[in-house]
Amino acid sequence: MPRTYLKKAPGAAKAANGGSPADIPAIVQGVIDAIRAEGDAAVRLYSEKFDKWSPESFRLSDAEIQHAISQVPAQTVADIKEVQANVRAFAVAQRESIKDFEIETAPGVFLGQRNNPINYIGAYIPGGRYPLLASAHMTILTAKVAGVKKVVACTPPAAGKIPNATVAAMHLAGADEIFILGGVQAVAAMAVGTPTVPKVDFIAGPGNAFVAEAKRQLFGEIGIDLFAGPTEVLIVADETADPFMVATDLLSQAEHGPDSPAVLITTSEEIGKRTIELCAELLEGLVTAPVASVSWRDFGEVVLAGGLDEAYAIADEYAYEHVQVLTAQPREALEKMQNFGALFLGPMTCVSYGDKCIGTNHVLPTLGASRYTGGLWVGKYLRTVTYQEVRNTEQSGKLGQLCGRAARVELFEGHARSGDLRAHMYLKDEFDW
Ligand code: NAD
Repeated sequence: MPRTYLKKAPGAAKAANGGSPADIPAIVQGVIDAIRAEGDAAVRLYSEKFDKWSPESFRLSDAEIQHAISQVPAQTVADIKEVQANVRAFAVAQRESIKDFEIETAPGVFLGQRNNPINYIGAYIPGGRYPLLASAHMTILTAKVAGVKKVVACTPPAAGKIPNATVAAMHLAGADEIFILGGVQAVAAMAVGTPTVPKVDFIAGPGNAFVAEAKRQLFGEIGIDLFAGPTEVLIVADETADPFMVATDLLSQAEHGPDSPAVLITTSEEIGKRTIELCAELLEGLVTAPVASVSWRDFGEVVLAGGLDEAYAIADEYAYEHVQVLTAQPREALEKMQNFGALFLGPMTCVSYGDKCIGTNHVLPTLGASRYTGGLWVGKYLRTVTYQEVRNTEQSGKLGQLCGRAARVELFEGHARSGDLRAHMYLKDEFDW
């Protein structure tokens, strides 16, 4: 669909891969290969190299965890608990929405489905630029609500120190083991296992382009939740929107990283132009402007749409992680839009509520992945498995006949014989092998 830009993103071509340098896959491959070959020694080497972090043990002892929590202000601990209660309430409702079932498709033929939690999870809690403790609630707590047996959680050091508030959030969310370890070395260690870092079956959690690439390369050997890379926000606004709110909310996401796109699709040229002016003004007083001004300059866009239907269609093409709707009737976006990680409807909520406190999960698809997946939720930690049982001889025999014919069309003689055998046992069919 042709677009009219009030502000175009000079970095938009790069945005197709999150603006990531082309050498990231090779760097990540090198780290994974080394950890596979040399285990803990390579983990330590890369932690020193990328994070200048080489403690005696990357795994926190119980005493270290308690000490970290004791350093966190009481109000912060209370807030962590309140936010976790919100996240838990939504995750419990999600778990209750997932049902096991069994149906009888013919007399005595039972087909069923069960949802079994994954046993061992690795949770990656990002922390390179900011201590993203909210990611602990989203990954660890949600896994625990799903019934995961053991959660191993990693987060990077904060400027050479243990990030106390993040550790508090990880512990209160229910992490069974906590490692202060970041980036590719954390993801690779959990995926392949080392003498000190337990091997997990599945890794969840957001991260920068290195973390996302590590999960991509290790997928198959382990499961992953989704590609939750650099944050994206898109706001759909009509003439009723407040441009000050639009600008504030765009910049709230642009501060995530210099490669975090923030896009406005508006039906009002006036709102679009005013938002551009206000973004420039607001950046002047924002302490995170060194990051947010770069992402707004390189990846910020303002698009003028001919009407709201066109605005929603353009927004669907972007398929962004967060979509905020500031229009007279925001709920209509639920019907008009399909491609998004999470929707934020109306002026009384915002993406920051989702990121930090309201209770929906903030680990969401980026880089167009919302075309095929939603975000992290209880269901991602469950294995939906099926079973079958036939308790009726006549039905087993009939299925045997059907199986024999179906398998022979596909030239599967061995399969056909399993069917023949039952047709013979239960319906006295002759067979000639
Ligand atoms: P991070 O923890 O993801 O990454 C930090 C680690 O990156 C460091 O520990 C270091 O080991 C590694 N690293 C840094 N530079 C490197 C290099 N040159 N070579 C190899 N490794 C290197 O923290 P971050 O960097 O702050 O990124 C967090 C990201 O998570 C942001 O992009 C943010 O937008 C994203 N995020 C996404 C979602 C989502 O749901 N999509 C949610 C929250 C956060």
